[in-house]
Amino acid sequence: MLMAGGRGLTSPGWRGIPKWRERCGVVGIICQDASAAERGIYSLQALQHRGQESAGIACASPGDGIRLHKGMGLVSEVFDQDVAGRLKGNIAIGHVLYSKGGLGGISDAEPLLFHYPWGDVAIATNGALVNAEELRASLGAAGAAFQTTSDAEFVGCLLAKHGSEHLEDKVRRCMMELEGAYSAVIMTSKSLIAMRDPRGFRPLCLGKFPGGWAIASESCALDVIGAELQGRVEPGEIVIIDREGIRRTEGRPCPGSAMCIFEYVYFARPDSIIEGVNVSQARHEMGRMLAKEHKVSADIVVPVPEAGVEAGLGFARESGIPFEYGLVRNRYLGRTFIRPEPDARRLGVRLKLNAVRQAVKGKHVLVVDDSIVRGTTSTRLVTLLREAGAKSVGLMIASPPVTHRCYYGVGTTPANHECLAASNGASSVLRMTGADSLNYLSWEGLLEAMRNAGARDIGFCLGCFGGCYPVVAPQKAEKLENLDSSEKPEKLEDPDSLEKSERLENPDSPEKPECPEESGEAVEEQETQATYAAAGVDIDRGMKAVELIKGVLKKMPSDRFISGLGGFGGSFLLDCRGLEDIVLVAGTDGVGTKLRIAIEANRHNTIGIDAVAMCVNDVITSGAKPLFFLDYLAQGRIEPQKVQAVVSGVAEGCMRAGCVLLGGETAEMPGFYGGADYDIAGFAVGAVKRSEIIDGSTIQSGDILIGLASSGLHSNGYSLARHVLFDMAGLNLPDEPEELGRQLVDELLEPTLIYVRSILNLAEAVTIRGLAHITGGGLIDNPPRMLPPGLAIKLDPRSWHVPPIFSVLQRLGNVGDHEMRRTFNMGLGFIVAVRPDDVESALESLTASGEQCRVVGQVIPGNGEVLFADE
Ligand code: SF4
Repeated sequence: MLMAGGRGLTSPGWRGIPKWRERCGVVGIICQDASAAERGIYSLQALQHRGQESAGIACASPGDGIRLHKGMGLVSEVFDQDVAGRLKGNIAIGHVLYSKGGLGGISDAEPLLFHYPWGDVAIATNGALVNAEELRASLGAAGAAFQTTSDAEFVGCLLAKHGSEHLEDKVRRCMMELEGAYSAVIMTSKSLIAMRDPRGFRPLCLGKFPGGWAIASESCALDVIGAELQGRVEPGEIVIIDREGIRRTEGRPCPGSAMCIFEYVYFARPDSIIEGVNVSQARHEMGRMLAKEHKVSADIVVPVPEAGVEAGLGFARESGIPFEYGLVRNRYLGRTFIRPEPDARRLGVRLKLNAVRQAVKGKHVLVVDDSIVRGTTSTRLVTLLREAGAKSVGLMIASPPVTHRCYYGVGTTPANHECLAASNGASSVLRMTGADSLNYLSWEGLLEAMRNAGARDIGFCLGCFGGCYPVVAPQKAEKLENLDSSEKPEKLEDPDSLEKSERLENPDSPEKPECPEESGEAVEEQETQATYAAAGVDIDRGMKAVELIKGVLKKMPSDRFISGLGGFGGSFLLDCRGLEDIVLVAGTDGVGTKLRIAIEANRHNTIGIDAVAMCVNDVITSGAKPLFFLDYLAQGRIEPQKVQAVVSGVAEGCMRAGCVLLGGETAEMPGFYGGADYDIAGFAVGAVKRSEIIDGSTIQSGDILIGLASSGLHSNGYSLARHVLFDMAGLNLPDEPEELGRQLVDELLEPTLIYVRSILNLAEAVTIRGLAHITGGGLIDNPPRMLPPGLAIKLDPRSWHVPPIFSVLQRLGNVGDHEMRRTFNMGLGFIVAVRPDDVESALESLTASGEQCRVVGQVIPGNGEVLFADE
């Protein structure tokens, strides 16, 4: 193993004054020639902004052992020409690190190399696991001895744990045990593998160049080696590239993505394209939205270099205020040694940034910055500009106030109470920075900016803008919060930290910020005053959930949707022109214990479709067209991202049903629902002309029954299904019974079909005599619900296809035929009764609507029973 010596000097890198540091960048290259490491080094240089503490490359050729070279410092310091020349191979992975608050040093530098009995593996990760402590404890108890604080070591240990399996399966198993953020590259001497956590917190993209493939944290690392961006590595995806080519497979289901929005605000390079969105354009849009939200007058707009430039341009263009480079960064500073004394640090700041006196003198200046974290940078900029003669200095911040720390891979983030906006209102922040005005971009504006920049179908993590964390168990969050408040100030390696610390410790300073954690009075208040939040109900979190839902509701048709979200009641325009005697039909239902599957799989984006389906399929049995839908979602603790995922499903269901999501209730009920549990119920209202109501009264003996195929269990019989599959057969959600050809989790979460549009089309084609939704009670109890007295149903089970899940359940649970037919839909989600003469037209219409349908039986004389031809 080669190891570069010489620890780099501690100062911010090429970006000037840092706020938060992205912890890492990763790259993986596989190619036909031996240039993988060389390409990797170039790519790492393009990712230098993501980590400047250490750099490393592992490389190999097929059949060789893996060679590793890493060291402290910048990529250019670690890899000179000699070293680069010695690293020849077809496969390489690389890493740049910004360490966790100075922990670890060279031992934390990645890639990490593992020697297993079955071969060498090198691993490099970007992100942070939220279950690292648990993994350390469990793997430690099993005999693992940890050498580093790196998450890559957990991955290495987990791969060892599943030693007998194929590497792809080992990686999948490993993903099942990792929680939090990880975008990782893994190599053997024969293959390059990438895996990304199911939320996709940290970016990871795939590129192709002649004769090879590249995987990297950002697309700028692909550009530099002439690789063409092919798109992202999907959240939850495993990508394997070897001699056979490229294979992409699901490692873990994505419950809804939570891409770090701070990548767009600050971390990523402006020329990168992340999840299809150009970072520069996103920042431009943030500036535009900021100008739209705040009409402020000034003589010039001055951006803070570098991350504030695009937002500044967007702001200037939208507001019409001239753009000037009034602040200049020293581009050639590199990594300069700065002594830790306050005076030296202040000098260091001037070395990095200065005001352009001619541009700002005598002007009212608006300074556009990407964000405020500790606030010390802003304070210095205001001072610089005032000293350069600015008449007034207004701060325009192109993101919401940063109030919380990041648990997903942003290194050296301040503890919550060190975020300026966390413990200070806007007026205090204004006073502390010395600016004349201060305005932030709103949450909504930030998301709107992302949409304007082209973000489609991407969920974002906004954890640091309010504490809504997509993946942190509440107890974990509390634990981390407690840690924050008792932590000593972080290792003070940069001017930001020191200056803040200095001000806090200066008793004479009239501007000393009062953090709640430091004020005895405030603490006492917390101890004695009961609050709704202390009781477990966080109204802010609820409001955040509402904000996220607003985006979802934008998809709703607006012609009838007068008002809903945020009001006390939803208003719907009932257009009855030409329709006398309109009858409203309402239905309500839930999704039963199918929810347990969604909760255990942490996959919530389709359960809302089920909730809608169960209600609208009931309403359409009267021939009523669903008009609107309301949902009720109750949780022990509101998790805004989960709410967003569930409500996205509800919105999708409404669109499939052609109705409006008019409103809903998101209830937080601590002590009532435990852990991650929640419940959802729905309410649908439809309308039908009185003369067109379908109530089964015209059904006659001899009428024909047409069955519409289901997509599987739909939302019924899950208590029995779970008992059979998990308690009796001992299966797990990722298991893949042969008959199903897919994982159980996918089968069990298959959304319930919505038959509304097909039935409405059918009603145009033929006279429908009766309709039955096959829900709880299966084929025994539901079909007779449409019959008038004196009639019965005869079904021929040989006439339709019974999906394999039912035979699996019957076999594993030894369930009798009658019990199966009374519990499950057995492959028929809906039954239509028509006259014999209408059968052909009905089948034609239903098929044209996309249904799989067949004649499955007949109406016969009887007393409401269901007979089966095979009994
Ligand atoms: Fe990004 Fe903030 Fe979420 Fe961390 S908490 S992943 S910095 S948005």
